Amino acid sequence: MTSAESRTVEALTGSDWDYSPAPERTRPDIASEYGLFIDGEFKEPQSGKTFATTNPATGERLARISEAGEADVDAAMAAARAAGPKWARLKGRERGKYLFRLARRIQECARELAVLETMDGGKPIKESRDVDLPLAAQHFFYHGGWADKLQWAFAGRNVRPRGVCGQIIPWNFPLLMAAWKLAPALACGNTVVLKPAETTSLSALHLARLLQEIDLPPGVVNIVTGAGDTGRLVASHQAVRKVAFTGSTEVGRLIMQELAPREIPLTLELGGKSANIVFADAAIDQAVEGVVGGIWFNQGHVCCAGSRLLVEESILEPFVAALRDRMAQLRVGDPLDKNTDVGAINSREQLDRIRSLVAAGQEEGAILHDAQTDSLPEKGHWFPPCFFTGVQPSHIVAREEIFGPVLAVMTFRTPEEAIRRANTTPYGLAAGVWTDKGSKIFEIARRMEAGVVWCNTYNQFDAGSPFGGVKESGFGREGGLHGLRGYVR
Ligand code: NAP
Ligand code: MG
Repeated sequence: MTSAESRTVEALTGSDWDYSPAPERTRPDIASEYGLFIDGEFKEPQSGKTFATTNPATGERLARISEAGEADVDAAMAAARAAGPKWARLKGRERGKYLFRLARRIQECARELAVLETMDGGKPIKESRDVDLPLAAQHFFYHGGWADKLQWAFAGRNVRPRGVCGQIIPWNFPLLMAAWKLAPALACGNTVVLKPAETTSLSALHLARLLQEIDLPPGVVNIVTGAGDTGRLVASHQAVRKVAFTGSTEVGRLIMQELAPREIPLTLELGGKSANIVFADAAIDQAVEGVVGGIWFNQGHVCCAGSRLLVEESILEPFVAALRDRMAQLRVGDPLDKNTDVGAINSREQLDRIRSLVAAGQEEGAILHDAQTDSLPEKGHWFPPCFFTGVQPSHIVAREEIFGPVLAVMTFRTPEEAIRRANTTPYGLAAGVWTDKGSKIFEIARRMEAGVVWCNTYNQFDAGSPFGGVKESGFGREGGLHGLRGYVR
């Protein structure tokens, strides 16, 4: 850069300079009311109950959603059971075509779906547009490819579908979690009753519209909306032959207890308290980016968020300084602005939980560093990114899953100490290792008690790569060849 150029940059980045707004202009076609998607049609709930879904960034009501009761879940299960034999008999190649068609329709409608996801859930448009939607389409493409190759996926064995699958998903990646669940189940010839999360049902309901457009046979996928009780009805239904759940460890435990007397295979993707380990020999700028993305991506509403940072003691000061600088640059606010990095917290309930855990961290004596908050929108649920230093492993912020943009920074002196500290948690979803030394990477990765270990990167996902936890983060895998196993006999 010439000195004139650098003066221009300096002038541009002076205190009074800011981005112009970059509002997203696409608007999805949101209905005022949504029925339950049962047997290929939207039906009014027999329960007679509905509830509102709102935009967490504005408080604006988006639509009314149906709350499925017992009779509704029974109807969805009956439709899934009735559709089962024909769907299972269909040649894999034909089932695959439906998945490919769906993947292409998702791509064609990607912008509208991304905006819908952002409006209903609060995540920044650049994330729903660039992460959630491409990955959701990818999952259907990938599994469409397996549908006619199951004899190679399970060489030497004649596999059959399990039957009706009950699938329950959370609010942090609504459409993507629906894709993770539906794609392998359908590829293997199962039928499904899917239960989206109460606060984020719209993208699944719009997916149902696409299922109608691609002429998926009625009953193969049924979508019942509602709160926790609807989820309980789905997971415990006598018709289910497989249950897949993503959500909290608490609810995962309840489902496991419920299914204990029955021989129902279960996949659980639960919470986490994942550690990013940064050695002094790491490429520091890249590590800072990785740590920032690991915790502040999607407001920290990520099961595998790198919510604990273990940094080698000798570089603590410069690393924390770089982290603080980077945090100050993050743009918090309107999720429909294409410049926004950190959007709205998904619900009031989640915001209260984050606030109380952060307050507990301060009471225990950890030091809070938070981002500037003067320009937050007045309405909606907001929590600016922050991190704690001076954290002891016994502190609440080092132990409990916060599920918000809150990072706990701790130090270590030796690789042994880093490994011990990283593994000191009942969870075991993910971990990150940052170092220049390949041998260190292999040694640490091998000894991490975590389902996924990322090396010199974080939060990388691919439909071909299995994802899932160990310890209290759950069991079973989703994605890749491993993910197919849960859906076949
Ligand atoms: P949650 O309460 O466990 O809910 C997950 C899903 O289960 C939702 O669809 C929920 O319905 C439903 N549900 C609630 N009670 C149920 C029951 N007794 N039986 C069957 N289903 C039931 O989790 P959340 O409140 O959505 O998310 C908060 C926590 O979930 C986080 O703190 C995190 O630990 C965990 N989480 C983990 C992952 C992951 O991938 N591992 C992803 C997201 C969240 P309603 O929401 O409609 O009530
Ligand atoms: Mg909502």
